[in-house]
Amino acid sequence: MTLLTSPLPALARDIDGKAISALVLDEVRAEVQALATQQVFPALAVLLVGEDPASEVYVRNKLLRAKDVGIRSLEYRLAQDASQQQVLALIAQLNADATVNGILVQLPLPAHIDEQAVIHAIDPIKDVDGFHRENVGGLVQGIEVLTPCTPSGCMRLLYETCGDLSGLHAVVIGRSNIVGKPMATLLLQANCSVSVVHSRSRDAAALCRLADIVVAAVGRPQLIDASWLKPGAVVIDVGINRINTDTGTRLVGDVDYASARTVASAITPVPGGVGPMTIAYLLKNTLIASQLQRTTLPRALAVI
Ligand code: NAD
Repeated sequence: MTLLTSPLPALARDIDGKAISALVLDEVRAEVQALATQQVFPALAVLLVGEDPASEVYVRNKLLRAKDVGIRSLEYRLAQDASQQQVLALIAQLNADATVNGILVQLPLPAHIDEQAVIHAIDPIKDVDGFHRENVGGLVQGIEVLTPCTPSGCMRLLYETCGDLSGLHAVVIGRSNIVGKPMATLLLQANCSVSVVHSRSRDAAALCRLADIVVAAVGRPQLIDASWLKPGAVVIDVGINRINTDTGTRLVGDVDYASARTVASAITPVPGGVGPMTIAYLLKNTLIASQLQRTTLPRALAVI
């Protein structure tokens, strides 16, 4: 008797954020070395206020990666009860220091400090997080400005996976200032048709099923499963959520990876997808900042 077995369905391939971020870091390292021959030494100042354990880890990783690629990093720490005035005074000092090219204030700040006031105190040309309203406006207008690191990293993952993105339909799930909105803007600049779905969308899953590209930035563990996806969709999972399991805690994304990979053609794992790209683009932004500081006028990008 012959047993007839149906072939297992093809699973999506992983989009390897570790490998692609290593490429970005190599590019940055090569540029840093080339600048050193011209006596230019890009520097990144990182400011941490308080002792939030997650922020401590993020800052440590950023400083380590900066050292890896030869970017000079300066670490500033203020106590949890530091006043807003102290934070603003330090930013003013870093703004005025011509040897500092990038300024990053690790968020969140303690509750008594006005986050927006701090972000907007940073000189936009040193704002390597790309959160200053001048950079946000420039991004929307298609001017070359400092652009938020996570969406920039996601774009690189998409280019490496899909090549030209022109004409593709992208759905971004989430509309935060940090991820969702700049992501949608960058996809539009890449000539995608873009939909943004959010907590008030009527049928987010149905809209998502129309997408060639799905970018999930929601902060809800494993919300998006196979039923949200068109066969062959490319899925970028920005979410980082810690969940409890029988054996402890583990990190998961906003996408149900096991379910989604039965329908998608390519997907980022969590961890190892978007996460490493964010730091790589922070360092790339530090280089861009130092370049922008050495040129006079921002160059307009050819976006129609
Ligand atoms: P946020 O809370 O600021 O925004 C979440 C968005 O999701 C909101 O716009 C909301 O409208 C939308 N939303 C909520 N519930 C929804 C639902 N049921 N359906 C559709 N949309 C819904 O979060 P954020 O700062 O954009 O971060 C999102 C996720 O990305 C978080 O898990 C965060 O930890 C992660 N993150 C990762 C990185 C990285 O480097 N990998 C960087 C930034 C954020």
